[in-house]
Amino acid sequence: MSQFTVPKTQKAAIVESTSAPLKVVDNFPVKQPEDLAPGECLVQLDVSGVCHTDLHASKGDWPIPAKLPLIGGHEGVGRIVAIGAHTQGSPVKLGDRVGIKWLAYSCLDCEPCRKGLEQSCLNGKYSGFTVDGTFSQYVVSWVTHVTPIPENLDSAEAASILCAGVTVYRAIKYSKAKIGDWIVLPGAGGGLGHLAVQYAVAMGLRVVAVDTGAEKKALVMKLGAEKWVDFKETKDLVKDIVDATDGYGAHAAVVTAANPAAYAQAVDYLRMGGVLMVVGLPARANLSADIFFTVIKSISILGSYVGNRQDAREALDIAARGKVKCYYELKPLSALADTYEALGEGKIVGRVVLNMKE
Ligand SMILES: [Zn+2]
Ligand SMILES: [Zn+2]
Repeated sequence: MSQFTVPKTQKAAIVESTSAPLKVVDNFPVKQPEDLAPGECLVQLDVSGVCHTDLHASKGDWPIPAKLPLIGGHEGVGRIVAIGAHTQGSPVKLGDRVGIKWLAYSCLDCEPCRKGLEQSCLNGKYSGFTVDGTFSQYVVSWVTHVTPIPENLDSAEAASILCAGVTVYRAIKYSKAKIGDWIVLPGAGGGLGHLAVQYAVAMGLRVVAVDTGAEKKALVMKLGAEKWVDFKETKDLVKDIVDATDGYGAHAAVVTAANPAAYAQAVDYLRMGGVLMVVGLPARANLSADIFFTVIKSISILGSYVGNRQDAREALDIAARGKVKCYYELKPLSALADTYEALGEGKIVGRVVLNMKE
């Protein structure tokens, strides 16, 4: 039997409806080891990162609604304390430190799964969206989908790599940008952006960071960005970026912004053959790129959605080797509502990680 004792109840942050305030309770039931289905596991969380997606999910911003009541959160790191009876061939064992990411489960057998696009699985389950996520002390996951955390990577460091890190890492990886190429990162000082700067630098790219304010500028320049454009101070953002990139424009842009205009601008500041990676999920927005210039500049526009299990392992491995460091503030679960508010106002530099053991 398990060497871990699993309590009956736990602390959890619950969204009961999209209009109700977030509620933190300490008597939410924990799924007991004997109730786990084969293939399921129970993870006792150390930490959980907070992502903008959690805010969107809790407000019902997207065309697809979240389950209700909902426990949000999809950047959890903790230890496996139980595995469902009759689980065959588990790649993880009791006591292993693992991560819970946005894609909680995929069938591994539909066409997207077979092609390595398991994040677009036709039968996928999403942490903190279609299944309860990591804003609770225990979370149910699947042995085939938890992500092993490298030993020398701290749980709080690893948390935001599981969503923010994987998302930007994969987008840069698929942007076709090669060593020495220019990449534009709008929102470079934010949660995704500051990780994107470091992954881009680790991959040998030259970074043009776009964001606003002295604090964000100082952070991105310290992380290795070569050029800085303040979108509030510039008179002509496109011109400034083209000038910063040898007068030809950038080779790639990874746009994580919630603002649709940021996507249209990219087509204008990319050079011939440039690649626009569409990553952000603005609520109910269309992409309006200039068709004429998209064609004559041979621009590629590619969507990129989090990452698969392999992308997650690669992103964590790069962080474990010290190439990428998440800037985060550790807070208790009770600070989640205030964190949502600050996120909504764009006031968070880096990332917020919740200590689930408090
Ligand atoms: Zn996320
Ligand atoms: Zn599938």
